[in-house]
Amino acid sequence: MKNTMMACNLHGLGDLRYEEVPLPALKDDEVLLQIKAAGICGSDIPRVFEKGTYHFPTIPGHEFAGLIVDANTADKALIGKKAAVFPLIPCGVCDACQIGEYPQCRDYDYYGSRRDGAFAEYIAVKKWNLVFVPDAVPFEFAAMCEPCAVAIHALSQAGVGLGDTVAIFGAGTIGLLAAQAARGWGAGQVILADVDQAKLDFAAQEGFTRTVNSAKTDAVGYILEHTGGRGADMALEAAGVSATLEACLKAVKTFGRAVLMGNPAKNMDIPQKAYWEILRKQLTLKGTWNSSYNDARNDWHLAIDCMERGVFKLESMITHRFSLADCNRAFELARQGGEFRVKIMFVM
Ligand SMILES: [Zn+2]
Ligand SMILES: [Zn+2]
Repeated sequence: MKNTMMACNLHGLGDLRYEEVPLPALKDDEVLLQIKAAGICGSDIPRVFEKGTYHFPTIPGHEFAGLIVDANTADKALIGKKAAVFPLIPCGVCDACQIGEYPQCRDYDYYGSRRDGAFAEYIAVKKWNLVFVPDAVPFEFAAMCEPCAVAIHALSQAGVGLGDTVAIFGAGTIGLLAAQAARGWGAGQVILADVDQAKLDFAAQEGFTRTVNSAKTDAVGYILEHTGGRGADMALEAAGVSATLEACLKAVKTFGRAVLMGNPAKNMDIPQKAYWEILRKQLTLKGTWNSSYNDARNDWHLAIDCMERGVFKLESMITHRFSLADCNRAFELARQGGEFRVKIMFVM
Protein backbone atom coordinates (compact mmCIF):
# COMPACT_ATOMS: atom_id res chain seq x y z
CA MET A 1 0.00 0.00 0.00
CA LYS A 2 1.22 3.49 -0.80
CA ASN A 3 1.93 5.76 2.13
CA THR A 4 -0.15 8.60 0.72
CA MET A 5 -3.77 8.99 -0.32
CA MET A 6 -6.02 11.52 -2.02
CA ALA A 7 -8.30 13.62 0.14
CA CYS A 8 -10.43 16.80 0.14
CA ASN A 9 -8.56 18.89 2.63
CA LEU A 10 -10.03 22.12 4.03
CA HIS A 11 -7.25 24.72 4.28
CA GLY A 12 -9.45 27.70 5.11
CA LEU A 13 -13.00 28.97 4.63
CA GLY A 14 -14.13 27.87 1.18
CA ASP A 15 -10.65 26.54 0.42
CA LEU A 16 -11.21 22.85 -0.17
CA ARG A 17 -8.35 21.17 -2.01
CA TYR A 18 -8.27 17.73 -3.59
CA GLU A 19 -4.70 16.77 -2.82
CA GLU A 20 -2.29 14.09 -1.77
CA VAL A 21 -1.89 13.67 1.99
CA PRO A 22 -0.11 11.09 4.17
CA LEU A 23 -1.94 7.82 4.73
CA PRO A 24 -3.08 7.87 8.38
CA ALA A 25 -0.99 5.66 10.68
CA LEU A 26 -2.86 3.16 12.87
CA LYS A 27 -2.92 3.54 16.63
CA ASP A 28 -3.49 0.51 18.90
CA ASP A 29 -7.25 0.95 19.05
CA GLU A 30 -7.79 1.74 15.37
CA VAL A 31 -8.41 0.03 12.05
CA LEU A 32 -7.92 1.42 8.56
CA LEU A 33 -11.14 1.93 6.66
CA GLN A 34 -11.17 2.29 2.90
CA ILE A 35 -14.00 4.76 2.42
CA LYS A 36 -16.58 3.66 -0.12
CA ALA A 37 -19.27 6.32 0.37
CA ALA A 38 -19.42 9.60 2.29
CA GLY A 39 -22.38 11.97 2.35
CA ILE A 40 -22.35 15.75 2.56
CA CYS A 41 -24.31 16.70 5.67
CA GLY A 42 -26.25 19.97 6.00
CA SER A 43 -23.79 20.88 8.76
CA ASP A 44 -20.84 20.53 6.37
CA ILE A 45 -21.95 23.60 4.39
CA PRO A 46 -21.34 26.17 7.17
CA ARG A 47 -18.35 24.09 8.25
CA VAL A 48 -16.69 24.50 4.87
CA PHE A 49 -17.87 28.01 3.93
CA GLU A 50 -18.57 29.99 7.11
CA LYS A 51 -17.44 28.56 10.42
CA GLY A 52 -14.56 26.32 9.48
CA THR A 53 -13.29 23.20 11.19
CA TYR A 54 -11.58 23.44 14.57
CA HIS A 55 -8.20 23.87 12.93
CA PHE A 56 -6.87 23.96 9.38
CA PRO A 57 -6.23 21.89 7.45
CA THR A 58 -8.88 19.29 8.31
CA ILE A 59 -10.49 16.69 6.08
CA PRO A 60 -14.26 17.09 6.56
CA GLY A 61 -16.87 14.33 6.25
CA HIS A 62 -18.62 12.50 9.11
CA GLU A 63 -21.31 10.44 7.35
CA PHE A 64 -19.51 7.47 5.86
CA ALA A 65 -19.05 3.78 5.41
CA GLY A 66 -16.33 1.59 4.02
CA LEU A 67 -14.33 -1.59 4.11
CA ILE A 68 -11.78 -2.45 6.79
CA VAL A 69 -8.55 -3.04 4.87
CA ASP A 70 -5.90 -3.00 7.59
CA ALA A 71 -5.74 -3.65 11.31
CA ASN A 72 -3.25 -4.28 14.08
CA THR A 73 -2.09 -7.86 14.65
CA ALA A 74 -4.73 -8.57 17.31
CA ASP A 75 -7.54 -7.31 15.07
CA LYS A 76 -6.71 -8.94 11.75
CA ALA A 77 -10.08 -10.75 11.84
CA LEU A 78 -11.77 -7.39 11.19
CA ILE A 79 -10.17 -7.03 7.78
CA GLY A 80 -12.75 -7.40 5.03
CA LYS A 81 -15.70 -6.33 7.18
CA LYS A 82 -18.04 -3.53 6.10
CA ALA A 83 -18.67 -0.75 8.58
CA ALA A 84 -20.29 2.61 9.13
CA VAL A 85 -18.75 4.86 11.78
CA PHE A 86 -20.26 6.71 14.74
CA PRO A 87 -18.29 9.94 14.29
CA LEU A 88 -18.11 11.11 17.91
CA ILE A 89 -15.20 10.11 20.12
CA PRO A 90 -16.23 10.67 23.74
CA CYS A 91 -13.88 11.56 26.58
CA GLY A 92 -15.04 8.51 28.51
CA VAL A 93 -14.82 10.14 31.94
CA CYS A 94 -17.42 12.96 32.18
CA ASP A 95 -20.88 12.50 33.77
CA ALA A 96 -22.56 11.86 30.42
CA CYS A 97 -19.97 9.29 29.39
CA GLN A 98 -20.40 7.51 32.73
CA ILE A 99 -23.99 6.74 31.77
CA GLY A 100 -23.27 6.04 28.10
CA GLU A 101 -24.89 9.23 26.80
CA TYR A 102 -21.91 10.01 24.61
CA PRO A 103 -23.48 12.75 22.44
CA GLN A 104 -23.80 14.78 25.67
CA CYS A 105 -20.08 14.37 26.37
CA ARG A 106 -18.43 17.57 27.62
CA ASP A 107 -15.10 16.99 25.94
CA TYR A 108 -15.46 14.98 22.76
CA ASP A 109 -13.56 14.62 19.54
CA TYR A 110 -15.27 14.28 16.17
CA TYR A 111 -14.30 12.79 12.84
CA GLY A 112 -14.71 15.40 10.15
CA SER A 113 -14.72 18.54 12.29
CA ARG A 114 -12.30 18.31 15.22
CA ARG A 115 -10.11 15.71 13.54
CA ASP A 116 -9.78 14.37 9.99
CA GLY A 117 -12.89 12.84 8.49
CA ALA A 118 -14.06 10.87 5.53
CA PHE A 119 -13.76 12.92 2.35
CA ALA A 120 -10.66 10.86 1.61
CA GLU A 121 -9.65 7.46 0.34
CA TYR A 122 -8.87 6.12 3.81
CA ILE A 123 -9.43 6.94 7.45
CA ALA A 124 -8.03 5.45 10.66
CA VAL A 125 -11.00 4.93 12.97
CA LYS A 126 -11.33 3.62 16.50
CA LYS A 127 -12.77 0.12 16.78
CA TRP A 128 -15.24 1.44 19.35
CA ASN A 129 -16.82 3.64 16.66
CA LEU A 130 -17.36 0.86 14.11
CA VAL A 131 -20.92 -0.09 13.28
CA PHE A 132 -20.77 -3.32 11.30
CA VAL A 133 -22.90 -3.50 8.20
CA PRO A 134 -24.43 -6.68 6.73
CA ASP A 135 -23.77 -7.58 3.09
CA ALA A 136 -27.36 -6.80 2.13
CA VAL A 137 -26.90 -3.11 2.97
CA PRO A 138 -24.90 -1.22 0.32
CA PHE A 139 -22.14 1.18 1.34
CA GLU A 140 -24.13 4.18 0.10
CA PHE A 141 -27.01 3.34 2.42
CA ALA A 142 -24.66 2.61 5.32
CA ALA A 143 -23.12 6.05 4.79
CA MET A 144 -26.56 7.45 5.69
CA CYS A 145 -26.52 5.74 9.07
CA GLU A 146 -26.03 9.05 10.88
CA PRO A 147 -29.11 10.90 9.54
CA CYS A 148 -31.13 7.68 9.93
CA ALA A 149 -30.00 7.31 13.55
CA VAL A 150 -30.79 10.98 14.22
CA ALA A 151 -34.30 10.51 12.78
CA ILE A 152 -34.87 7.36 14.85
CA HIS A 153 -33.60 9.08 17.97
CA ALA A 154 -35.92 12.07 17.42
CA LEU A 155 -38.99 9.88 16.98
CA SER A 156 -38.12 7.75 19.97
CA GLN A 157 -38.13 10.84 22.19
CA ALA A 158 -41.90 10.83 22.06
CA GLY A 159 -42.61 7.35 20.83
CA VAL A 160 -44.82 6.46 17.90
CA GLY A 161 -47.91 4.53 18.95
CA LEU A 162 -49.71 2.13 16.60
CA GLY A 163 -52.10 4.16 14.46
CA ASP A 164 -50.75 7.52 15.60
CA THR A 165 -50.94 10.56 13.40
CA VAL A 166 -47.43 11.98 13.13
CA ALA A 167 -47.04 15.50 11.75
CA ILE A 168 -43.58 16.44 10.52
CA PHE A 169 -42.76 20.10 9.90
CA GLY A 170 -39.78 20.24 7.55
CA ALA A 171 -39.38 17.70 4.74
CA GLY A 172 -35.59 17.83 4.51
CA THR A 173 -33.42 14.72 4.71
CA ILE A 174 -34.03 14.04 8.41
CA GLY A 175 -37.71 14.96 8.16
CA LEU A 176 -38.16 12.46 5.33
CA LEU A 177 -36.22 9.76 7.16
CA ALA A 178 -38.32 10.37 10.27
CA ALA A 179 -41.42 10.04 8.09
CA GLN A 180 -40.16 6.69 6.78
CA ALA A 181 -39.36 5.46 10.29
CA ALA A 182 -42.77 6.58 11.60
CA ARG A 183 -44.47 4.71 8.76
CA GLY A 184 -42.36 1.63 9.46
CA TRP A 185 -43.19 1.75 13.15
CA GLY A 186 -46.91 1.69 12.66
CA ALA A 187 -48.03 5.31 12.45
CA GLY A 188 -51.57 5.52 11.15
CA GLN A 189 -50.85 8.53 9.00
CA VAL A 190 -47.84 10.70 8.44
CA ILE A 191 -48.40 14.32 7.42
CA LEU A 192 -45.48 16.30 6.03
CA ALA A 193 -45.47 20.10 5.93
CA ASP A 194 -42.92 22.29 4.20
CA VAL A 195 -42.73 25.58 2.32
CA ASP A 196 -40.77 23.99 -0.53
CA GLN A 197 -43.11 22.32 -3.00
CA ALA A 198 -40.28 20.32 -4.61
CA LYS A 199 -39.61 18.59 -1.28
CA LEU A 200 -43.28 17.78 -0.88
CA ASP A 201 -43.49 16.44 -4.44
CA PHE A 202 -40.54 14.21 -3.66
CA ALA A 203 -42.21 13.03 -0.45
CA ALA A 204 -45.36 12.25 -2.44
CA GLN A 205 -43.29 10.15 -4.86
CA GLU A 206 -42.01 8.26 -1.83
CA GLY A 207 -45.59 7.38 -0.96
CA PHE A 208 -46.43 10.13 1.50
CA THR A 209 -49.76 11.28 0.17
CA ARG A 210 -50.57 13.66 3.03
CA THR A 211 -48.41 16.68 2.33
CA VAL A 212 -49.19 20.33 2.86
CA ASN A 213 -47.41 23.39 1.56
CA SER A 214 -47.50 25.68 4.57
CA ALA A 215 -46.56 28.70 2.44
CA LYS A 216 -49.88 28.37 0.62
CA THR A 217 -52.15 26.43 2.93
CA ASP A 218 -52.79 26.58 6.67
CA ALA A 219 -50.90 23.46 7.77
CA VAL A 220 -52.55 23.39 11.19
CA GLY A 221 -55.99 23.52 9.57
CA TYR A 222 -54.98 20.70 7.22
CA ILE A 223 -53.82 18.51 10.13
CA LEU A 224 -56.98 19.19 12.14
CA GLU A 225 -59.07 18.37 9.09
CA HIS A 226 -57.33 15.00 8.71
CA THR A 227 -57.63 14.07 12.37
CA GLY A 228 -61.31 14.72 12.90
CA GLY A 229 -60.49 18.05 14.54
CA ARG A 230 -58.43 16.42 17.32
CA GLY A 231 -54.92 17.17 16.11
CA ALA A 232 -51.88 14.97 15.61
CA ASP A 233 -50.70 12.62 18.33
CA MET A 234 -47.18 13.78 17.80
CA ALA A 235 -45.43 16.54 15.88
CA LEU A 236 -41.80 16.81 14.93
CA GLU A 237 -40.32 20.28 14.45
CA ALA A 238 -37.63 19.70 11.83
CA ALA A 239 -37.19 23.20 10.43
CA GLY A 240 -35.88 25.31 13.31
CA VAL A 241 -38.09 28.35 12.73
CA SER A 242 -40.61 30.06 15.02
CA ALA A 243 -43.54 29.62 12.65
CA THR A 244 -43.17 25.83 12.57
CA LEU A 245 -42.70 25.62 16.32
CA GLU A 246 -45.95 27.55 16.69
CA ALA A 247 -47.66 25.27 14.17
CA CYS A 248 -46.44 22.17 16.04
CA LEU A 249 -47.98 23.39 19.27
CA LYS A 250 -51.28 24.13 17.56
CA ALA A 251 -51.34 20.95 15.46
CA VAL A 252 -50.99 18.40 18.28
CA LYS A 253 -53.93 17.06 20.26
CA THR A 254 -54.65 17.49 23.95
CA PHE A 255 -51.91 15.63 25.87
CA GLY A 256 -50.02 15.47 22.56
CA ARG A 257 -46.25 15.37 22.13
CA ALA A 258 -43.97 17.71 20.23
CA VAL A 259 -40.35 16.85 19.53
CA LEU A 260 -38.07 19.80 18.81
CA MET A 261 -35.24 18.92 16.47
CA GLY A 262 -34.57 21.66 13.89
CA ASN A 263 -31.46 23.74 14.52
CA PRO A 264 -32.71 27.30 15.10
CA ALA A 265 -31.40 29.90 12.66
CA LYS A 266 -32.29 32.68 15.12
CA ASN A 267 -34.50 33.28 18.19
CA MET A 268 -37.43 30.91 18.50
CA ASP A 269 -40.45 32.97 19.56
CA ILE A 270 -43.68 31.52 20.84
CA PRO A 271 -46.72 33.81 20.49
CA GLN A 272 -48.91 34.04 23.57
CA LYS A 273 -51.75 32.13 21.93
CA ALA A 274 -49.49 29.22 21.03
CA TYR A 275 -47.99 29.25 24.50
CA TRP A 276 -51.46 28.79 25.93
CA GLU A 277 -51.72 25.60 23.89
CA ILE A 278 -48.81 24.10 25.84
CA LEU A 279 -50.59 24.85 29.10
CA ARG A 280 -54.17 24.08 28.24
CA LYS A 281 -53.45 20.91 26.28
CA GLN A 282 -50.78 19.84 28.79
CA LEU A 283 -48.40 19.14 25.97
CA THR A 284 -45.16 17.25 26.32
CA LEU A 285 -42.28 19.06 24.65
CA LYS A 286 -39.10 17.12 24.16
CA GLY A 287 -35.79 18.17 22.71
CA THR A 288 -33.69 15.75 20.73
CA TRP A 289 -29.98 15.77 20.07
CA ASN A 290 -27.89 13.50 17.88
CA SER A 291 -28.48 9.81 18.65
CA SER A 292 -27.85 7.17 21.31
CA TYR A 293 -24.86 4.91 20.97
CA ASN A 294 -24.60 2.57 23.92
CA ASP A 295 -25.41 -1.02 24.84
CA ALA A 296 -28.82 -0.22 26.26
CA ARG A 297 -29.95 1.90 23.36
CA ASN A 298 -28.16 2.10 20.07
CA ASP A 299 -29.88 4.09 17.33
CA TRP A 300 -27.04 3.18 14.95
CA HIS A 301 -27.61 -0.56 15.16
CA LEU A 302 -31.31 0.08 14.87
CA ALA A 303 -30.73 2.27 11.80
CA ILE A 304 -28.78 -0.50 10.06
CA ASP A 305 -31.47 -2.98 11.05
CA CYS A 306 -34.16 -0.68 9.60
CA MET A 307 -32.15 -0.41 6.37
CA GLU A 308 -31.93 -4.18 6.12
CA ARG A 309 -35.66 -4.54 6.68
CA GLY A 310 -36.49 -1.85 4.13
CA VAL A 311 -38.02 0.59 6.64
CA PHE A 312 -35.70 3.22 5.19
CA LYS A 313 -35.98 3.68 1.43
CA LEU A 314 -32.68 5.31 0.63
CA GLU A 315 -32.06 4.63 -3.05
CA SER A 316 -34.02 7.63 -4.32
CA MET A 317 -32.76 9.88 -1.53
CA ILE A 318 -29.23 9.81 -2.90
CA THR A 319 -29.88 12.33 -5.64
CA HIS A 320 -26.28 13.20 -6.58
CA ARG A 321 -23.02 11.25 -6.65
CA PHE A 322 -19.56 12.76 -7.10
CA SER A 323 -15.99 11.55 -7.10
CA LEU A 324 -13.67 13.08 -4.51
CA ALA A 325 -11.82 14.94 -7.26
CA ASP A 326 -15.07 16.85 -7.89
CA CYS A 327 -15.38 18.01 -4.29
CA ASN A 328 -15.72 21.68 -5.15
CA ARG A 329 -18.48 21.05 -7.65
CA ALA A 330 -20.27 18.88 -5.08
CA PHE A 331 -20.04 21.57 -2.41
CA GLU A 332 -21.17 24.32 -4.78
CA LEU A 333 -24.25 22.26 -5.56
CA ALA A 334 -24.84 21.59 -1.88
CA ARG A 335 -24.53 25.29 -1.06
CA GLN A 336 -26.29 27.00 -3.91
CA GLY A 337 -28.68 24.39 -5.13
CA GLY A 338 -30.64 25.45 -8.14
CA GLU A 339 -31.64 21.86 -8.69
CA PHE A 340 -33.53 19.57 -6.38
CA ARG A 341 -31.31 17.52 -4.09
CA VAL A 342 -31.69 15.39 -1.02
CA LYS A 343 -28.40 13.63 -0.26
CA ILE A 344 -25.22 14.48 -2.13
CA MET A 345 -22.65 11.77 -1.76
CA PHE A 346 -19.05 11.02 -2.65
CA VAL A 347 -18.70 7.47 -3.92
CA MET A 348 -15.34 5.78 -4.28
ZN1 LIG B 1 -24.43 14.76 9.64
ZN1 LIG C 1 -17.35 12.58 28.11
